[in-house]
Amino acid sequence: MTQVVVCGAGIAGISTAFHLTRMGVTDIVIADPLPPLTLTSDKSTECYRNWWPNEPMVRLMNRSVELLDRYAIESNDIFDLNRRGYLYLTSDTAALDQIAATAAAATTAGAGELRVHGTGHSKYRPEPDHPIDGADLFIDGDELRTHFPFVTEAAVGGLHARVAGWLSAQQLGAWMLDQAVEAGAALVRSRVESVSTKLGQIDGVSLEDGTHIATPTFVNAAGPMLREIGLMTGVDLPVFSEIHAKVNLRDHAHVVPGHAPMMIWSDQQEIDWSEDAIAYLRDEGRSDLIGLMPSGCHARPEGGSDSPWVLGLWEYHTEPVEPTWPIPFDVLYPEVVLRGLTTMIPALSGYRDRIPETIVDGGYYTKTIENRPLAGPAGPRGSFVCGALSGFGIMAACAVGELTAMAATGGELPKWARWFDVSRYNNPGYLDTVSGDTGQI
Ligand SMILES: Cc1cc2nc3c(=O)[nH]c(=O)nc-3n(C[C@H](O)[C@H](O)[C@H](O)COP(=O)(O)OP(=O)(O)OC[C@H]3O[C@@H](n4cnc5c(N)ncnc54)[C@H](O)[C@@H]3O)c2cc1C
Repeated sequence: MTQVVVCGAGIAGISTAFHLTRMGVTDIVIADPLPPLTLTSDKSTECYRNWWPNEPMVRLMNRSVELLDRYAIESNDIFDLNRRGYLYLTSDTAALDQIAATAAAATTAGAGELRVHGTGHSKYRPEPDHPIDGADLFIDGDELRTHFPFVTEAAVGGLHARVAGWLSAQQLGAWMLDQAVEAGAALVRSRVESVSTKLGQIDGVSLEDGTHIATPTFVNAAGPMLREIGLMTGVDLPVFSEIHAKVNLRDHAHVVPGHAPMMIWSDQQEIDWSEDAIAYLRDEGRSDLIGLMPSGCHARPEGGSDSPWVLGLWEYHTEPVEPTWPIPFDVLYPEVVLRGLTTMIPALSGYRDRIPETIVDGGYYTKTIENRPLAGPAGPRGSFVCGALSGFGIMAACAVGELTAMAATGGELPKWARWFDVSRYNNPGYLDTVSGDTGQI
């Protein structure tokens, strides 16, 4: 009898299988009709941060970063982990106060110390010899531009979160999968069609290829299909999905320095379309692109220091949708993101009249209402879930995989695991305790 069947070979399923093998469970089948990591997990911006506005997410990400650091050493840094940080920027003094208030919440939650830098004699360390924790808050725009000269004159300050950066998500996933397979896990290219139970206990999984696998343990790590697979075990998981795109821009003039951090424009903004463009957008029924647009336009350099590529993201439509493929991305997305980014990095304006080569891809953020993952038991005995990873699945993968594997093996869970257990919704007051800021960029 197979000890565990994992449904889904995205980063969540792979991490769960990998951590199961580390806990001594080796007879594992990971079932997926697609090649590993190819649905959502290879479409991300591959960034991570422990900088979240609430204790549950800070705890989770602190653990995930601890594991990332450990696996980077173990794998000889096969997944290219960096610590460039996240730079949150604003042109609004009230918004800067809000960034400072969120920073206070993050530090209280355990994200590390906050260092404040005013005008001149700043003790900001751009490239410390050793990784530093917490964040640097710039309360003066000129001081900020001393270190980030490409940032707009309009920025009045910003915050550089330091336990943050990016990595190769595919390399991380491939490394964990190789390790799991070496330890005994098997990858099966087939779809999970049904899950059976006996006396309230999981007892088998049927695949599309006709195989029936007898097993007492099932892990639902089906990404955007989390709810559909949950229903197979009789559980209606409280998740929904939003489309999120990203654009690869060929920055052939190297406007964005290769060493830049992830940069986020924290203000709402209006795109400065020409009058002709506004008339055209109105005619095309695209008034959504005229007027005030959401905050959160962000970008980072991609590749080595010589690479011309920049990844840009800006989600201006976040309505819940039913996941379908191919994903209907907005044809205007590259131009909208590029124009949005010029507010933060004015030198990108050089590309406005001649949009450079762009590639758009993306996927679904499948998430819970308060934007926290599901990791732990769900449904009949022997049934577990690892998902609702929203826009943080790469950064959270190690911690949620470990938590799910611990739950599945009956291990002792850390106290904070309860924040990610689906049973949290049984507490009638739970959602009232969750703050409005979900931490989503
Ligand atoms: C544009 C974009 C940018 C992002 N940026 C970041 C970022 O910077 N940092 C970060 O941490 N996260 C980021 N994310 C989020 C991250 O990519 C996801 O949270 C993560 O990839 C989800 O992983 P998953 O394993 O849950 O889902 P998936 O990768 O979708 O894997 C689920 C797997 O389940 C399989 N499956 C479904 N149904 C069945 C079935 N019936 N039988 C068998 N298998 C099945 C699917 O085929 C799929 O392979 C981003 C996402 C997007 C779209």
